[in-house]
Amino acid sequence: MSKTTVVVGAGVVGAAIAFELQKRGRQVTLVDRDQPGLGASFGNMASIAVSEFMAVSRPATWKKIPRWLLDPEGPVWLRPSYAPKMTPWFLRFVLAGRPSRVAEIEAAGASLCVRVLDDLTPMLDAIGARDMLTDEGCLAIYETEAEFAADRDHIALMENYGFAHRVLTGKSIRDLEPSLAPHIAKAVLLPANRSIRDPYQLVLKLVEAFRQAGGVFVSGEVERVDRHGGGGADIILAGGTRLVASDVVLAAGVRTRFLAAGLGEPIPLETERGYHTQIMAPGISMRHSIIWPERAFMVTPTAGGIRVGGNVELAGLDAAPDYRRARVLVRHAQRALPGLKAEEASEWMGHRPAFPDTLPIISASSRVPGVWYATGHGHLGLTYSATTARLIADMMTGGRPPVDMAPFSITRF
Ligand SMILES: Cc1cc2nc3c(=O)[nH]c(=O)nc-3n(C[C@H](O)[C@H](O)[C@H](O)COP(=O)(O)OP(=O)(O)OC[C@H]3O[C@@H](n4cnc5c(N)ncnc54)[C@H](O)[C@@H]3O)c2cc1C
Repeated sequence: MSKTTVVVGAGVVGAAIAFELQKRGRQVTLVDRDQPGLGASFGNMASIAVSEFMAVSRPATWKKIPRWLLDPEGPVWLRPSYAPKMTPWFLRFVLAGRPSRVAEIEAAGASLCVRVLDDLTPMLDAIGARDMLTDEGCLAIYETEAEFAADRDHIALMENYGFAHRVLTGKSIRDLEPSLAPHIAKAVLLPANRSIRDPYQLVLKLVEAFRQAGGVFVSGEVERVDRHGGGGADIILAGGTRLVASDVVLAAGVRTRFLAAGLGEPIPLETERGYHTQIMAPGISMRHSIIWPERAFMVTPTAGGIRVGGNVELAGLDAAPDYRRARVLVRHAQRALPGLKAEEASEWMGHRPAFPDTLPIISASSRVPGVWYATGHGHLGLTYSATTARLIADMMTGGRPPVDMAPFSITRF
C-alpha cells in the first residue's frame, strides 16, 4: 500500500497540517476543490486571539440572544428560512452552556491558547514568514463603564488563566492608539493577541513551503472517502480519480460534515457566516487591532489596508451574502475611529466551521482507522492552526501530544 497521507482542505488548518506532516517525513498529498486559501482562511480578521477561548454558549449569551436577533444591526442574525435546519445544532448549543460544561470548554480552549505562540512562531520561522506576525497586541474597547462591566466574565477568565492584560482609561488609550475617538472611555490591552499581516498569504506560504519540501498539491473536489476492507481509506475525487492513501486527514472546513456523514459518522458542524470590509485607503493608520465586545466586531490593520469585520449570520452554506451586514460594521468602526474612510473598499463573506460547544475536533475517527479530523475551529481557526497541526501530527506519528486531547475527540458528539 502507498505510504501517502492525504490531507483534504487547503485552508489554514489543512495547509498547516500538510506542512507539519511533510516536515516529519511523511509523503503528503494536499487536496482542495479550489485553489489554496480561498475558504474561511482567506478573509478572517487576522487575529491570533489567544485570550478569546470563552465558551460562546453561556447563560450571559443566551440572555443577549433575543435582543440581538431582533436588532437588524446586531452581531447575530438568523435567517428565518434557515431556523428549522438550525434547531438540532441550537439545542446542542444550549446544552453546552450548562455551567459545568462551560468550565470544561474553557479549560480545554485555554489548554490550546497557552501554547499558540510557541507553536506558531516556529512554524512561521520554518516557512520564512516570521515577519507576518505583528508585535502589537489588541485593544478591547468600551464606550461606557456599563459596557466594561458587561465584559467582566471575559476579564475574569483571562485573570483565572493568567493571560496578561492591562486596563487603560482616558488619555492613555489615545497615547497607544491616537485614532480612537475620545468617547472610548476604557480599553483593555491584550498584548498576546497579535495578528497576521495577511492571513491569505500565510496559507499560500505554507503551501509553497510544503511543495518545496516534496509535498504534492492536487486540485479536485473530494466526493467521498472510501474505506479499505482492512482499515484505512482512499479518497475519491469528482470524476472518479482514486487517491490511494495510507491515512487521511479531513480538514475541509465546514464541508467536512459531508465527508464525515459519508463515513457514517455525522458531526454537528454549522457555518457561522461572517463578513469583512477591506479598506484600501482608510485615511488613518493603526498599530493595534481593536475589538469592541459590546458590538462584537474587530478592526485590524493588515498588509492591504484596514480590515473591519465580524458578526455571525446563521443562514447555511448556500444563501447569497447580505453585505448590509458588513456595512453595519463599518459604521460601528467609524464611531470608534472617526477618521476612518471607507470609499475604496472590498467586501467578503466566509464560513466559520463551528461546533455547538465552541471547541474543534482534532481527533482520530471513531469508526475508520487511519482517518483523522481537524475541523470546527470556529472563530479561532487561524489562531489554532499551528497548534492543531502539531497536535494531530503528534497523534498520527505515534508521539504524545502535550495537551489532553479528550476534549477535542469526535466521540463527544
Ligand atoms: C469574518 C471572519 C473573521 C474571522 N476572524 C478570525 C480571527 O481573527 N482569528 C482566527 O483565529 N480565526 C478567525 N476566523 C475563523 C477562521 O477564519 C476559520 O476558523 C479558519 O479559517 C478555518 O480554517 P479551515 O482550514 O478549517 O477552513 P477553510 O479555510 O474554510 O478551508 C477549508 C478548505 O477545504 C476545501 N474543501 C471543502 N470541501 C472540500 C472537498 N469536498 N474537496 C476538496 N476540498 C474541499 C475548501 O475549498 C477550503 O479551501 C474568522 C472567520 C470569519 C468568517
